[in-house]
Amino acid sequence: MTPDLILAGAGLANALIALAVAEARPGARILMLDRAPSPSDAHTWSFHDPDLRLPWHRRLSPAIRCRWPGQEVRFPDHSRVLRAGYASLDGAGLARLLADTPGVTLRWNAGITALDATGATLGSERIEAPCVIDGRGARSSRHLVTGYQKFVGLEFEMNTPHGVTRPLIMDATVPQQDGYRFVYLLPFSPTRLLIEDTRYSDGATLDEEAIVCAIADYASDKGWTGREVRRERGVLPIALAHDAAALWAEAQGGPAPVGLRAGLFHPVTGYSLPVAAQVADVVAAAGPTTAEVFSAVCAHALDRAGDDRFLRLLNRMLFRGCPPDRRHRVLSRFYRLPEPLIERFYAGKLTRLDRLRIVSGKPPIPIRDALPCLREAPLLKETA
Ligand SMILES: Cc1cc2nc3c(=O)[nH]c(=O)nc-3n(C[C@H](O)[C@H](O)[C@H](O)COP(=O)(O)OP(=O)(O)OC[C@H]3O[C@@H](n4cnc5c(N)ncnc54)[C@H](O)[C@@H]3O)c2cc1C
Repeated sequence: MTPDLILAGAGLANALIALAVAEARPGARILMLDRAPSPSDAHTWSFHDPDLRLPWHRRLSPAIRCRWPGQEVRFPDHSRVLRAGYASLDGAGLARLLADTPGVTLRWNAGITALDATGATLGSERIEAPCVIDGRGARSSRHLVTGYQKFVGLEFEMNTPHGVTRPLIMDATVPQQDGYRFVYLLPFSPTRLLIEDTRYSDGATLDEEAIVCAIADYASDKGWTGREVRRERGVLPIALAHDAAALWAEAQGGPAPVGLRAGLFHPVTGYSLPVAAQVADVVAAAGPTTAEVFSAVCAHALDRAGDDRFLRLLNRMLFRGCPPDRRHRVLSRFYRLPEPLIERFYAGKLTRLDRLRIVSGKPPIPIRDALPCLREAPLLKETA
C-alpha cells in the first residue's frame, strides 16, 4: 500500500491529526509508524472542558477514561472549586480509537531511522508518501529556552475509599521544594487515585525515587494505604523564550514538524492537547502534500508564538524574577482571578483585558526583579 500520509510517531499530536484527517478526507490512507512495541500505559492526557471545541469532544469521547464536572485548587492562603469540567484520556483509549478509525493503519515496533519530506526509512525498508508529518516528540532546540515541569505520578488502588470526589489540579499546601511544588490528584474511582507530585524547576534532572517518597508521605498524611498499579513520569518544557521563526526556518524542506518538537504546547502549563487539536484542524484543512501542510502549520505556529509572548513573559517572571521558594505566591494570586479568565488562560485564548488584569494590582514580584525579565532576546542569545 502506498499511503497518502505518513505520520512519524503515534503520540498525541499525530493521533489527533489521524482522527481529523480521516474525518475530513474519507478514503485517505494514513500510515502511523511508532518505535514503541505497544500503546503506552505511562500517559494520561487531561484537559479542561473549555479547552476543546465541540467536534473534538465528540471525536475523543470514545477514548475518555474519566470525566469530572469540576476541579479544585488549594494554596496555603485559599482554596477554590472551579466549575469547568475536566477529563482524561489514556494511551490505550487513544490506540483503540485509532484502530476503529477507517483509513488509519498503526504500526508498532516501527523505529524510523531516517525521515524526509517524501518518506520514512525503517532500516532497510523505505516507505514514500506525498505528505510526511514528523510527530516524534520533544527535541531540544537553541531557539527555545525552557524551564521544566517535572513530575512523577503513581496510580493507586486504595484499600478503602479515598474520599476525593473531584480532580485537585494543584494542591500547593505541600512543603515547597525544587521550585514551585504541588500535588495533583485524579480520582478515577472511589478507590482508584492518581497522585502526581510536580515541580516547576530550573533543572531537568528528575529524582524519581525522592518524588516517590514524597508521594508516599503525602498519602500517609491523608491516611491512604493501597497498591501502586501504574506509574507515569515526565519532564516537560516550560517556554521562557522562543524564536519560532528560526525554529521553522531550520525545519524548512523537511517533513512538517508537529507536537512538542515544533514548540506546540501551552507555554505555562506544558499541556499540549488543546494545541494539538488546533494543529490537527489546520492539517485537515491544508492541501495533501508535505509542502502545503508545512506552510499551513508553520503559519499557525508563528501566530501562536506571537500570541504566547505574554505567557512566556509570565514564565520568565516566575523562573527568573522570583526565588524558587516564592513561586507558589504568583500562582496563588493567579487563581484568585475570575474563572472565565482562568479558562481562557488554559485554552490559550487570553484577551488584552485578561493580560492587563493578570499583571495589574499589587505586582506578584517586585518591579526591580521584573524589569530584567521583560525581553526574551537576551535569553535566546545566551543559548546561541
Ligand atoms: C506522563 C505525561 C503526562 C502528560 N499529561 C498531560 C496532560 O494531562 N495534558 C496535556 O495536554 N499534556 C500532557 N502531557 C504533555 C504533552 O501532552 C505530551 O508530552 C504529549 O504526548 C506530546 O505529544 P507529541 O505528539 O509531541 O509527543 P509524544 O506523545 O511523546 O509522541 C511521540 C511519539 O513518537 C515516537 N517516536 C519517537 N522517535 C521515534 C522514531 N525514531 N521512530 C518511530 N517513532 C518514534 C514515540 O514512541 C512516541 O510515541 C503529558 C506528558 C507526559 C510525559
